[in-house]
Amino acid sequence: MSALHEEKWEACLKVIKDNISIQAFKTWFSPISPIKLEDSVLTIQVPSHFFYEWLEEHYISLLKKVIKKELGPNGRLEYSIIMEKNQTNSTPYTVKLPASNKSSLHNSPVTMPLNASEKQIKNPFIIPGLKKVNVDSNLNPSYSFENFVEGDCNRLARSAGYAVAKKPGGTAFNPLLIYGGVGLGKTHLAHSIGIGIKNQFPNKTVLYVSSEKFAHQFIDAIKNQTTNDFIHFYQMMDVLIIDDVQFFSGKEKTQDVFFHIFNHLHQNGKQIILTSDKAPVEMQGMEQRLLSRFKWGLSADLQAPDLETRIAILENKMYGNGIDLPREVVEYLAYSINTNIREMEGALTSLLAQASLNKKAITLELAKQMIDKFVKNTAREVSIEYIQKVVCDYFDLPIELLKSKTRKREVVQARQIAMFFSKKMTKSSLANIGAHCGGKDHATVLHACRTVNNLSETDKQFKSYLDDLEKKLSIQ
Ligand code: ADP
Ligand code: MG
Repeated sequence: MSALHEEKWEACLKVIKDNISIQAFKTWFSPISPIKLEDSVLTIQVPSHFFYEWLEEHYISLLKKVIKKELGPNGRLEYSIIMEKNQTNSTPYTVKLPASNKSSLHNSPVTMPLNASEKQIKNPFIIPGLKKVNVDSNLNPSYSFENFVEGDCNRLARSAGYAVAKKPGGTAFNPLLIYGGVGLGKTHLAHSIGIGIKNQFPNKTVLYVSSEKFAHQFIDAIKNQTTNDFIHFYQMMDVLIIDDVQFFSGKEKTQDVFFHIFNHLHQNGKQIILTSDKAPVEMQGMEQRLLSRFKWGLSADLQAPDLETRIAILENKMYGNGIDLPREVVEYLAYSINTNIREMEGALTSLLAQASLNKKAITLELAKQMIDKFVKNTAREVSIEYIQKVVCDYFDLPIELLKSKTRKREVVQARQIAMFFSKKMTKSSLANIGAHCGGKDHATVLHACRTVNNLSETDKQFKSYLDDLEKKLSIQ
């Protein structure tokens, strides 16, 4: 039979596993080992200080809940950190929960309408007091404006958000609807606005809620016959941030109740911030009257970031975590994962975890291996952009030339090679490859591939270029 601390930690892991992605679980929880359990304090060993910080920053609330659930109300967690080899102090370092106090984002208590406070309040965000209730803003302090890197892809949305944060309810951007694809920063930006408002107007009641949570609360309210409380609660907000409103599609009752809350807030000059994965015109299953209200303010979109912005985002994240990585590694990550910032960050953190676990320096080689292992299902293939960069570096040509229409011999050849590898290593269509390489059509790309194949059979020198490049490009 295993010892109690092992059993308890095993039980904790079970719950944690159900609440986070498998990748995150493997990365952050599998390497932990439980050490002892004394007076409701469970000590776990983590591989490095970075690990500890990461857990504290990203999994603190989950850990707290799980520990309380498994160890009772007095349950606590302590970390024992394996010290890096180069550090002299060899005694394990222990730190206690709870960690940082992020109280600045708390709302001051607000008064509920009398009739509502008489009944038991069911809303999970509020803790009933005598007459006042506390509303947790649900804002994540790390999603601040400072951490939101500006680029062409997000300039309008970011500056509109900034204006709203300076003057909530007092701009033409009400509601402010931020829309764009998955992992492009909608949630982050929505939080930034909320945080900006809380910093400048601490007395304003700000609430961030996902549409899903809103909808579930509403269903509970119907069940418990507390719809009035529910509506009153939301009508008390000074700033209401609702994330992923496309979730309301086809949910007529939820749309109805949201419509009333929306009107009340809007009429009273309160700020509404919405996010969605689609532009209002493309939202299906949404009532017309709601859609037309979404368009009252400003709809601003987030585009996929360009390479420079992706690099800047990675650098910002590294800076925030006190990490330094070789430039080529950062570039490789930014080149390889180009559609989804969340995935790019995921790759970066996996890389850091792995390096800290194995106490290895982070090299380009390791980065390649990591991308191969951890991002296999999502961003496995190299991008056309990356291929172009490697080819241009190899032949010492500026990438702009390759993308231009110039017919200079050495550029034409490099361009053909880039097309050849793009065809071979990515799933892009010939037309798309052509578009990336000086606006050529699919026939030109096909011709390039044939030419490269022929040359590689007849020209030894050329063949050795290809082999070199293939080695550089292959993710191994
Ligand atoms: P969405 O809600 O659009 O799916 P998120 O807001 O969750 O995307 O963003 C995904 C990840 O990318 C988050 O970790 C976020 O911090 C990061 N991110 C997105 N855009 C930026 C940006 N411009 N600067 C810094 N980090 C960003
Ligand atoms: Mg989101």
